[in-house]
Amino acid sequence: MEINFDLLVAGCNTRCMHCYVNGGPSKAMPLADILTCLEKLDALAALLPWTSSFTLDNEPMNHPELCRIIPAAVQTKHIKYYHHGMTTGIALIGRPDRNAVMRAYFDAGFRHFGITLHGNAEHHDTIVRRRGAYRASVAAAEYMKAQGAEIEISLMFNHYFPQDAESLDDAISALRPDNIWFAVPNYTPHRNMPAFEPFRGTLDDLLILRPWLSRWRQDEAALLRDSATVGIVKNRLWQDLSLKTLFSAPQDEMYLTVHPDCRLFMGNTGTETRDLGDLRTLDIEKTAALISASTGNRDYGAFYARDQLPAQTDLIRALDALPQSLLYSDAASVIYRGLAALDTPTICNRKEG
Ligand code: SF4
Repeated sequence: MEINFDLLVAGCNTRCMHCYVNGGPSKAMPLADILTCLEKLDALAALLPWTSSFTLDNEPMNHPELCRIIPAAVQTKHIKYYHHGMTTGIALIGRPDRNAVMRAYFDAGFRHFGITLHGNAEHHDTIVRRRGAYRASVAAAEYMKAQGAEIEISLMFNHYFPQDAESLDDAISALRPDNIWFAVPNYTPHRNMPAFEPFRGTLDDLLILRPWLSRWRQDEAALLRDSATVGIVKNRLWQDLSLKTLFSAPQDEMYLTVHPDCRLFMGNTGTETRDLGDLRTLDIEKTAALISASTGNRDYGAFYARDQLPAQTDLIRALDALPQSLLYSDAASVIYRGLAALDTPTICNRKEG
């Protein structure tokens, strides 16, 4: 089992339509609380039987004390700091101390950073719901590169991509990133998700992009193999895919979240299932025992109770009513989309201890 703790140290500068981790502006966690939470997570990780890591989210670059947080994050002994490096760039580019921030990351051994592009400037700003966001992301990437960082661009596929391909290609050619990712958005039962659905790309949109995919260093076959359309999953549900089997399969990843008020939750940010208490004052031994006795919560049973699932034929009917070529990151996302269409109750965001 792999465990990741999402430590929400500062809010995000955008409100992406497809955000499944409660992005958007929010209060920063006070520095003293962050340092205490890091100590507590380290002590907790020492007692867990699995590998543990933590992530500073949603946008650590919004935290005024980031230069003190990074060295503390890398000094933990039993829990590894996972630096994903993704940023909107808006916070960094607006910081007078941005050179010191970059130095703090470099001194801690982190040199790679990434921005996400959602289309041309206008469409990007629409999807992330912030004017000027595209310009700030590109400016931040240029700045980070000039400082010596390795730059990655994540292309977040949507319905605009066929018409924006040339503009995206221009941005890629200008930035000359070290790496390019191509992501098909997932779907989880998070309150944000329905807003993105009118912008979701289809398999036909992806096929129009064929000439660009190799220019963008993408493996078309792998993309097609890993993603899933509504139609493909619907047919598999008729043939060989069983909800019962999917929901009873063991999972080997576990997500926990520490909110800005230091409360520790089971579940990923935005899909929390249990409030374990204030991490600053929690009994670490008891909490470690409770987490050790829990099962993974990455998919399926992390969001829905097995005894409240619809009949498989009802799910197939719900999927049949959707556009069949809508493209999702994986089959699980298509199933969650169908369950959402049926208003299947989730077990997420429960607050009981
Ligand atoms: S997807 Fe990422 S960048 Fe967008 S709102 Fe969510 S946390 Fe922020």
